[in-house]
This record gives sequence, structure tokens and C-alpha cells, in this order.
Amino acid sequence: MFRALLGQSILKRAVDRELLQVSLLQLRDFAEDRHQRVDDAPFGGGPGMVLKADVLQRAVQQAHNSLAAPGRVVYLTPQGKRFDQQDAKRLAGLPHLILVCGHYEGVDERFVASMVDEEFSLGDFVLTGGEIPAMAIIDAVARLLPGVLGDQESFTGDSFYQGLLDYPHYTRPAFWQPDGRETPITVPAVLLSGHHGNVHDWRRRQALLRTLLRRPDWLAQANLSKAEKRLMELLADELDRHDPTPADGTNWKDQQK
Ligand code: SAM
Repeated sequence: MFRALLGQSILKRAVDRELLQVSLLQLRDFAEDRHQRVDDAPFGGGPGMVLKADVLQRAVQQAHNSLAAPGRVVYLTPQGKRFDQQDAKRLAGLPHLILVCGHYEGVDERFVASMVDEEFSLGDFVLTGGEIPAMAIIDAVARLLPGVLGDQESFTGDSFYQGLLDYPHYTRPAFWQPDGRETPITVPAVLLSGHHGNVHDWRRRQALLRTLLRRPDWLAQANLSKAEKRLMELLADELDRHDPTPADGTNWKDQQK
């Protein structure tokens, strides 16, 4: 699974240029019984299997030993903190991460209590294993590492990077008429104007508006000018008048308090 992620596109380039190094450990290699068992039935009964604490501990220890400095041990679990861009930024500043993927019913809780530094969830749903969340974290962190993205792919305008959602994007053709539509859908005129200042202002306003409408909880982290703050307050008041309870239950003004 991981080779598919690391073997193409931006991450392959990062690995080839040694901006990112990923080592994979196979849990079975750390089993000590003759059947190479990595899991066992849960104490107390019930369905499924649980990954064994001693096997996990040996694997994580080996990972620590192979690094120049101890790594931060992250366990992927639906019960962890929901992973977001701020976490990605913070983890990108660490020299080493050790990502532990659970399987089956999960892992022996004693391993989590004694060896795990942080627990992250990819979202409020349950996957069969921690590999996809681990790959998501590798991808999100790797693209923030110096040199991984070229200027063309820079992440600073991405959603969440500065506490705002990204502005909408358009590309050629300027007039596009999807099948069945009577009139073409056009690109906002300002983007075709060639006026960089106006384009910049329009994009900023779109990013602010989108964040207010879709993710007002993030606005509190955004670096807004005084005028933008005031504008957001006015718009939030306006929205409150039309829809006092936003769909996601958040309220931007409450976040500011
Ligand atoms: N019984 C566990 C629970 O309800 O918390 C779920 C176990 S899940 C079937 C197996 C493994 O997949 C977990 O140990 C974890 O590593 C991974 N996993 C599943 N969903 C996840 C999510 N939303 N975020 C991160 N990891 C997840």
C-alpha cells in the first residue's frame, strides 16, 4: 500500500531527492513465537483480534533505534484527535515520526499508554486499518517539507494554511457550456482582466467569504486585518439574521471570544 503512495508523483520526487525518507516495518518480523503471531483474542471475550503490546513495542523500539534521535510515536485511531492542517504543520517541524497502524479490533491499550505520544484520527468513521490514515499524514506532512513542492505547487494558499479556505480556481476555456445548458458559464471577469492587484483582492475576499460560510470555526485562527475583521463581523451579523443556526453549529463571533 505504501509503495503505491511513495512510488509516484510529488512524493516519489521527494523520496528520490532525499527530502523525505520513509521506512516500513512489518509487524510479523517482531513476533517471537513460531507462528509469528502478532495478534490474539481480547481478554474478556468478544469479537475480533487485538494487536499484541509486546510485538508493537519491539517494532517501535527498533524504529527508535534506527533513528538519529527518538521519533514521535503517533498511533492512528478513530478515537484520536481529528488530524488537521495545524497538526500537519507541527509534525512537519519534527525530525522523525513513527506512525503505528492498528488493525482488527485495534491494539492492546497498554501499548498506547506506555509508548504512544499522540493519537490521531482521520475522521469520524472506522477503517479496517491505520494504513490509509498513516498515508494521509505522510502526504500532508511531506508536502510541507522544504523543497518538496515547487513554487508552482506552493502550499501557502492552500485551505487551512493561513486559517482560511482556498479561493475558487478556474482555468481555460473562459466560456464553458456543459451539455444541456442554454448559456455558457463564465469565469469571473476580474480573473481575465490582467490586473494583479484586483485579482489578489478578489481572491482574498473569496477566501474570507468561503471560510465564513463553510468553516467559520477556522476564521478565529486567520490573520485578518482590522478592516477584514470588521467586514467578517458585519457579514456574520447579516448571516445570523437570515440563518441564526449555521449548519455546522459553529458561530464565528463566538469563536472570537
Ligand atoms: N475498534 C476500534 C474502535 O472502534 O476504536 C476500531 C478498530 S479499526 C477496525 C482498526 C484500525 O484501523 C485501528 O486500530 C486504527 O489504527 C485504524 N483506523 C480505523 N479508523 C480510523 C480513523 N478514522 N482514523 C485513524 N485510524 C483509524
